[in-house]
Amino acid sequence: MAVDVLHKVPVREQEPKVRATNFDEVCLGYNKEEAMEEATRCLNCKNPQCQVGCPVSINIPAFIQEVKKGDFKKASEIIAESSALPAVCGRVCPQESQCEGKCVRGIKGDAVSIGKLERFVADWARENGVKPEVHAEKKGKKVAVIGSGPSGLTCAGDLAKLGYDVTIFEALHKAGGVLVYGIPEFRLPKDRVVQPEIENVKALGVKIETDVVIGKSTTIDALLEEEGFDAVYVGSGAGLPRFMGIPGEQALGVFSANEFLTRNNLMKAYRDDYDTPITKGKKVVVVGGGNVAMDAARTALRLGGEVHVVYRRSEAELPARAEEVHHAKEEGVIFDLLQNPVEILEDEKGWVRGIKVIKMELGEPDASGRRRPVEVPGSEYEIECDTVIMSLGTSPNPLISSTTNGLEINKRKCIVADEETGATSKDGVYAGGDAVTGAATVILAMGAGKAAAKGIDEFLSKQDA
Ligand SMILES: Cc1cc2nc3c(=O)[nH]c(=O)nc-3n(C[C@H](O)[C@H](O)[C@H](O)COP(=O)(O)OP(=O)(O)OC[C@H]3O[C@@H](n4cnc5c(N)ncnc54)[C@H](O)[C@@H]3O)c2cc1C
Repeated sequence: MAVDVLHKVPVREQEPKVRATNFDEVCLGYNKEEAMEEATRCLNCKNPQCQVGCPVSINIPAFIQEVKKGDFKKASEIIAESSALPAVCGRVCPQESQCEGKCVRGIKGDAVSIGKLERFVADWARENGVKPEVHAEKKGKKVAVIGSGPSGLTCAGDLAKLGYDVTIFEALHKAGGVLVYGIPEFRLPKDRVVQPEIENVKALGVKIETDVVIGKSTTIDALLEEEGFDAVYVGSGAGLPRFMGIPGEQALGVFSANEFLTRNNLMKAYRDDYDTPITKGKKVVVVGGGNVAMDAARTALRLGGEVHVVYRRSEAELPARAEEVHHAKEEGVIFDLLQNPVEILEDEKGWVRGIKVIKMELGEPDASGRRRPVEVPGSEYEIECDTVIMSLGTSPNPLISSTTNGLEINKRKCIVADEETGATSKDGVYAGGDAVTGAATVILAMGAGKAAAKGIDEFLSKQDA
């Protein structure tokens, strides 16, 4: 059969009606034949822009050429040179604005399905027992990594490959950061996909200590001055939710998206064999239009609710990935656009009974370049609901910065760190990922972890010189 070079080989997915009632993975990925067919669409460009578009610089054309030949082990080794979390990235990276956004095939047709190919190779490697190998000479130096999200895991893995003795300290009882507590099972399976990639990082020699809250259990200053660590990397993310500050926000039945998703994903509230309490709203309003809002909405839908996403701009400005919006709509999430909450209404017991919103229209572009939403006077009305999930963004928790001497933060409470090296204002302390940028993406957090591993290596190597 001739290959349709203009279009991606379609990927199999669970039917919308079926998947709206379960937490199994939506996307089923490519099989061997589909992956090899899609790989033939890669032009193997001399000057591959896809690689430039990848924040961890995976040699994309090289791994795709191996897929084309059917040498999936070699393909996985090429990816492993740059990424510790390929099965994760193949599932959740915004490829359309990164590698695939730069693919020349995309000029006239679809870009090569780089993300789905990466996912296929990583899944194949896991299922066939391919493990990363490390033969670095030990350096005799200890590095502490705070946080086990993608940024901390990447930094730790790269440092271990260079021969450092690395310990990750994680506040929660399970490693993985947002990959385990935020992103839902139906997009990123935990036991099958995330855990094995964490095990691969551990196989490089990285130790992970969970239930250790830096700033409470111990401090960065103590790690450096009393506990024998030569450097510290802060990859503590941006897990502090924002609220609107409108009347009624304290009512029972109002949640931050982070709490709602943590109960469901990390604490497995959706499973009958766990006793984590969670509110299964009959009619749920999710406020916000980002990826986190889509995850909260699709989770509430699977828990049995009628779900409305209330967003103050129009569909064109929705910050969520188009694929996520498409999936949410297919599954039955209702979008109430150009509306903004002004009050949450409570019943006599203090429980949410509705949300008052005002209609909006779009005015001139604001600093972000998007058209500014403007209230339509007198257009308030009430939406009846029993649960409200606020998904308005997050910022870094100030615990670490407030317990570390000499660590500079900016107005947004983010740690100030050099983009190239991750170096902060404090000698020996490096930082990256959401803790520095504010809420961003998995791959940017990984890129920052990689850069900081290099920065730390240069810093510690200089001490020996
Ligand atoms: C619901 C949701 C969906 C998302 N979907 C996507 C997506 O599809 N694609 C994408 O690219 N990005 C997505 N993101 C964003 C992405 O997950 C983050 O940008 C990324 O995880 C940041 O990585 P990080 O390592 O910097 O921080 P995190 O993943 O937040 O990890 C930080 C870790 O540090 C720990 N920690 C915090 N404070 C301390 C302390 N004091 N002591 C010890 N440990 C501490 C935390 O418990 C956490 O485990 C999503 C985010 C959310 C919330």
